[in-house]
Amino acid sequence: MMNVCFQCGMYHADKIIDPAGPFAVCPECGFRHPFRQLPLLIVSGASGAGKSTVCQGLSGQLTRTVLLDSDILWRPEFNTPETNYRDYFELWLRLCKNISQSGRPVVLFGAGAGVPENIEDCIERRYFSHVHYLALVCSAESLTERLRRRPIWRGTQEVKYIEEHIRFNRWFREYDSQPAIERIDTTNTLPEETVAQVASWIDERVGGSGHNQISRSTRTDAF
Ligand SMILES: [Zn+2]
Repeated sequence: MMNVCFQCGMYHADKIIDPAGPFAVCPECGFRHPFRQLPLLIVSGASGAGKSTVCQGLSGQLTRTVLLDSDILWRPEFNTPETNYRDYFELWLRLCKNISQSGRPVVLFGAGAGVPENIEDCIERRYFSHVHYLALVCSAESLTERLRRRPIWRGTQEVKYIEEHIRFNRWFREYDSQPAIERIDTTNTLPEETVAQVASWIDERVGGSGHNQISRSTRTDAF
């Protein structure tokens, strides 16, 4: 309920951020609401690049962050590419902001979340100290092979779907702008190695090891 002012009761997503607190300042009455301005970490990549495997592999292993797969809230009405899926990402950022108030940064896994222009213009973006972008990428051949291996019901074997995600994968590989997207190439690494690389990337950004030393086997064909 961070968007409802404790003093005047008005709803505002667009509070003014005073980094001194930090405070979220109500534009109606000026009430200064202290809040936790934590980083948001986004792990992205095209379908087949390894996001779900990594999210699954890290589940229960990291204690300093909250890992979420952005697909869990997807509904057809959010499919508005003309607005950069604004409602969907405002909802996600609002949720991540509220989770962060319990003191743990969120690591959000999802394809569209990794496109900075879908995130950076959102009103709710201001409540994060920094958004770190990581993309899992691989060769077009590996991506095609992984998508073809999936069960039929997911529809990932259709030529159009594969082509679309090869293009998206290439976009991540060639992206060279700000804010930066870091990349991990999963073409020739086993899933457990990729999981370890992403765990390190997260640890480096949330300060120190939040790693539970739970050993778990990850199927090598799980991508
Ligand atoms: Zn107010």
